[in-house]
Formats: sequence, structure tokens, C-alpha cells
Amino acid sequence: MIFSVLTLFPGIFSSPLKESLLGKAVEKGLVDFNIVNIRDFADDQHRTCDDAPYGGGPGMVMKVEPIFKAMQHVTGAYGKARVVLLSPQGRTFDQFTAGRFSRLSHVCLICGRYEGIDERVLEYVDEEISVGDYVVSGGEFPALVVIDAVARFIPGVLGNDESVNTESFTEPLLEYPQYTRPENFMGMAVPPVLLSGNHEEIRRWRRKEAIRRTVLKRPDLLNGFEPGEEDKRLMREVMNEFPE
Ligand code: SAM
Repeated sequence: MIFSVLTLFPGIFSSPLKESLLGKAVEKGLVDFNIVNIRDFADDQHRTCDDAPYGGGPGMVMKVEPIFKAMQHVTGAYGKARVVLLSPQGRTFDQFTAGRFSRLSHVCLICGRYEGIDERVLEYVDEEISVGDYVVSGGEFPALVVIDAVARFIPGVLGNDESVNTESFTEPLLEYPQYTRPENFMGMAVPPVLLSGNHEEIRRWRRKEAIRRTVLKRPDLLNGFEPGEEDKRLMREVMNEFPE
């Protein structure tokens, strides 16, 4: 899978895409990054990529022509792409969208800056994605969030491909609590069931704890949860354990 990233600040990507999971994914040939400086596609002497907004108002707006040319360049080099604009006005990015993007061969992420981009760029955009209801200074960090979440779905990227199926949000549930050594830290012991070696008991405990913490931390997720018979039983148990 190839990610093309159109940005005015390519340097932001140099370290995050080389380290840890993403760096290893590149080494293994599972994913590739094509970081494109939009400024290289400005055709005036000063390589201008922004200008004042028509109608007045604060800040500068990214120009349409260099972005259009950069898009043409990446699709010419790597083939048709799903073009995604990072924007606080887009649909909120989630685990489902990350999984969907991971099945594409080429995703082109456009990073805005300043007051945003000329509205006419949207003619060439397939979808707008937001990382949440707040405004950051540019699309670069949101793009890195998208890249990281998508890469986790690509087979071979995680040490254990099973991880992605048990993580929070794969179902509308949060993941169960995790523990590692030591068995006892300052009087806080690991739940005995996890030391029992009884795989069925461990599976059942984890499922119940996933339900419990979703009820406590993110009850909104349960609107999309379709519990099976065991889940309904576990949910009743959880509810009965809450103090009156
Ligand atoms: N003036 C714009 C508005 O009010 O909608 C905000 C522009 S913001 C300062 C500059 C760029 O950062 C945007 O074009 C976008 O690419 C990126 N950006 C900011 N917040 C974002 C978010 N929550 N999700 C994705 N991208 C974001």
C-alpha cells in the first residue's frame, strides 16, 4: 500500500515514518510513503502556495493550482488514489474507516495549513476526514494519526495480526484490562484468573471486563453493540455488581 502525502512541511514526516512499527513496515515492504512538497508544484519565482482570501478576513488560504499539480504528479507516478483531505470539517476518523482505507492500494492525504485550502480543491477530493472536534495548525499530525491507524490493519505490520481484532473499537467495545509482571505491585495484585492457565475462564473474564469498562467509560458505544447470549448474561452480571 502507498500513502502519498501532500504537504508544505515535509520535514514533519521524516522521523515518525522511520521509527518503530511504521519504519519496520517500510523495511518489510508492506507500506510505502511518498511525501510530496506542494511548494515544488508552485510555478512562480517565489514558489507561492498561499494567498489572501477573496472577500477579506484573517489569514491566508492555500492555492488550488499547486495542490492540483501535486495530485496529478502522484497519480501519474503511483496510479489512481483515494484522495483524502484532512479537515476539521470532515467526518470523524474511526477504526472502521482505518480498516476501509487499509484495503486500498493508494491513499493520497492532503494536509491543509493556514486558514485552510481553496474550496475548489474539494472537486478532486473523495472524502474529508477530521481527527476530532478541535482545530490544529495543519493536516500533518492528523495525517500521521490516520497513517498509523490504517497501517495497523495491514497484514504483517503488527507482530501479531490477531491484535487488531481484539483492540478497542473493533467491536463497539473497549478492550479488556491488560497486566504484565510483576504479579504484585505495592499491594496491587494481578487478577488471579489471569494466572490460572484456564483459557476459557480468561476469555470469559476478559469479555466481561470489556463490557464493564465500556459501560463505565464509553456507554455511548453500546448503542451500536449487538450482544450475543453470553454478552447479555455478562452484561446483567456487570449491572448487578454496580452499587445501588
Ligand atoms: N479555518 C479552518 C476552519 O475553521 O475550519 C481551520 C484551518 S486549520 C488551522 C489548518 C489545517 O489544519 C486544515 O486545513 C486541516 O488540514 C488541518 N486540520 C486542523 N484541524 C483538523 C482536524 N481536527 N482534523 C483534520 N485536520 C485538521
